[in-house]
Amino acid sequence: MLKIDDLRVVDEQRPLGSAEDPRHCDYLQAGKVILMQIPERYINHSCDPNTYVKTIDGVREVIALRRIAPGEEVTYDYCINGNGNTVWVCHCGASRCRRLIHSDFFHLPLELQREYLPLLDDWFRQERAAEVERLARGDTQDSP
Ligand SMILES: [Zn+2]
Repeated sequence: MLKIDDLRVVDEQRPLGSAEDPRHCDYLQAGKVILMQIPERYINHSCDPNTYVKTIDGVREVIALRRIAPGEEVTYDYCINGNGNTVWVCHCGASRCRRLIHSDFFHLPLELQREYLPLLDDWFRQERAAEVERLARGDTQDSP
């Protein structure tokens, strides 16, 4: 279990410096952007992840989903708690790799949304409450 250091907030008053890489940013509740520190910034995405991130007592923690062997790469699925409209091609190598990834959680295949539902962080549940509620009910209709 790893506690994530979210102290480096990126905003208008505190923009990224020239040595800071926007790819190391993480996007949290209410549009909050943080610059991930070491080592968490090196955790790669996998479509078959072995960890997930959950806020506990106000601190985000990386929590194992299963036993991780020594030397095994630590990964999480960037789409869990994922917002935005970023699309990328994944090369994670997992047998269930989705290949073309959309950053928003609700773009995941429905069965995967259901599988990941218990892993969603509280801030994401609040921010996307209507959609989370609909998923939890098993109501896949888009109409209200
Ligand atoms: Zn993948």
